[in-house]
Amino acid sequence: MKENGRNEKSCKEIQGLIPRYLSGNLSLKEARAFTGHLKKCSDCREEIEISYLVDQGIARVESGETIDLHADLETMLTDTEEAIQRLTQFSTAVYLIEMTAVFVLIACVLILWIF
Ligand SMILES: [Zn+2]
Repeated sequence: MKENGRNEKSCKEIQGLIPRYLSGNLSLKEARAFTGHLKKCSDCREEIEISYLVDQGIARVESGETIDLHADLETMLTDTEEAIQRLTQFSTAVYLIEMTAVFVLIACVLILWIF
């Protein structure tokens, strides 16, 4: 998987993001690239599964819980995608509001200028 497009991150870059993803410290842009890449790349998926199992497995063993970690990771990734979608919609909405505000402003200036 080395022939990535210009805007796509390499496997090495994606795998470098795993620790920050697991601690919830990715930017929206990074998270989008991250989840998008995981959908296409089984190598990186395996990589995050191992990291997640190690990371969470230790914590769970210590607390004596036996929960399906595999399903947990799935849920976490789905939640991330939903959060990305919400944030993307939000920034689109903000953008539209800003654009509308600019148009209203231009219209006001034009009206004042004409009359
Ligand atoms: Zn990859």
